[in-house]
Amino acid sequence: MRQFKYDRQREFLSRDAIHDEQAQLLAAHIEYCRAKSPYYAKMCADFPAATAANSFDILSSMPFTTKDDLAGNINRFVAAPECDIRDIAFSSGTTGAPLPIVYTENDLQRLAYNEQKAFIACGMTPHDKILLTCTMDRCFIAGLAYREGVRAVGASVIRNGLNSLESHAGIIATLKPSIIIGVPSFLKKLIKFLTAENIDPGCVKKLICIGEPVRSNDCQLSLLGSLLEKLWGASVYSTYASSETITSFCDCEAGCGGHLHHDLAILEIIDDNGSQCGPGETGEVVITPLQMEGMPLLRFKTGDISRYFDEKCACGRSTPRLGPIAGRKQQMMKINGTTVYPETVFSCLETLPGIMDYYIIAQSCDGHLTQAEVTVSISGDSALTVETISNRIAATARVRLPVAIKPHDQVCRKIFPGASRKPIRFFMVDGKEIAT
Ligand SMILES: [Zn+2]
Repeated sequence: MRQFKYDRQREFLSRDAIHDEQAQLLAAHIEYCRAKSPYYAKMCADFPAATAANSFDILSSMPFTTKDDLAGNINRFVAAPECDIRDIAFSSGTTGAPLPIVYTENDLQRLAYNEQKAFIACGMTPHDKILLTCTMDRCFIAGLAYREGVRAVGASVIRNGLNSLESHAGIIATLKPSIIIGVPSFLKKLIKFLTAENIDPGCVKKLICIGEPVRSNDCQLSLLGSLLEKLWGASVYSTYASSETITSFCDCEAGCGGHLHHDLAILEIIDDNGSQCGPGETGEVVITPLQMEGMPLLRFKTGDISRYFDEKCACGRSTPRLGPIAGRKQQMMKINGTTVYPETVFSCLETLPGIMDYYIIAQSCDGHLTQAEVTVSISGDSALTVETISNRIAATARVRLPVAIKPHDQVCRKIFPGASRKPIRFFMVDGKEIAT
């Protein structure tokens, strides 16, 4: 079994040393995939044996692995015997049906090590007390990853999960956590609740934000990120990961993009033709996670759109940094020639006082999303109008979208279908009418 041990020196290796270590780990990973994964055994059949000298060249000539490949062949990706599987989770299912992802003991240790590196980089210490506001159950891997990462740092964790605002407020008042991990829109609701209840949030020094972007394309805090920083009086960090690759990227204390952990993954950004993008160029995030056992992957297309930066970071690390996730490739809208992702509109709405909830319905034409309507609910005392909301979206997203204001219960029924606790805020329809 492999051992993952945090080594501060490894965090600050030179680019050459990083490349050499990655080349070796990648060669071992390719050969592991060939030997243990039925899917990759077939795919790798015509490639030469991987060594540190040729592993990057082999990787760049390999086909990509997509979520559709996984969905159609999920059992053929499993590379460990059933008796070695320790945890089975589902990928988040943001596109298509949820897929079972298996993890061995090695993978769970890797998961903890990955988050340990991320959390230490953003300043977490053994003296911290971390409130988790995301779920550890329901077959999600993220909550478990954060908990194991906090444990590895040597800090303490409070697993309050998807509990009520009242419950989280009670914990903040009594246990005084120093760091909160959660979704930005929820953290905004929570600070407003604390303010209304006269509960001092002064104990909270850092917010680690998941699931929604808090930075703009230049990696500066977005309006939502700045709002959270101001309301909480705490530093805001962003982290990004995917269940399939169990690889996370997290802001360091310099706060200018999520560092790649070079011994755990290879990062590529690719354009629509599959060619590699340069630093700062926008494309799809492709990850080859290293040192994985249960379900190893090669060139996995995440479906997420971002960019990377490779100049040396102010923190001293030389690893590339992943910018904010602009959105999902499948959700890219092209409205009157302007590209816009739902996340841009959502972030804008989150900064408008009086907006309670919202969703977008986009209309597909010839395979492209060319029209969209925004529906919101507003608080009873809000002076917001359809026009003011539309103007704000136009100022942020550079497109003018029709806006409808509807009763809050009607909006909630749309975004929380069935027993879902995770809101669905983006819908795609075919045809000419936008139906709500
Ligand atoms: Zn840094």
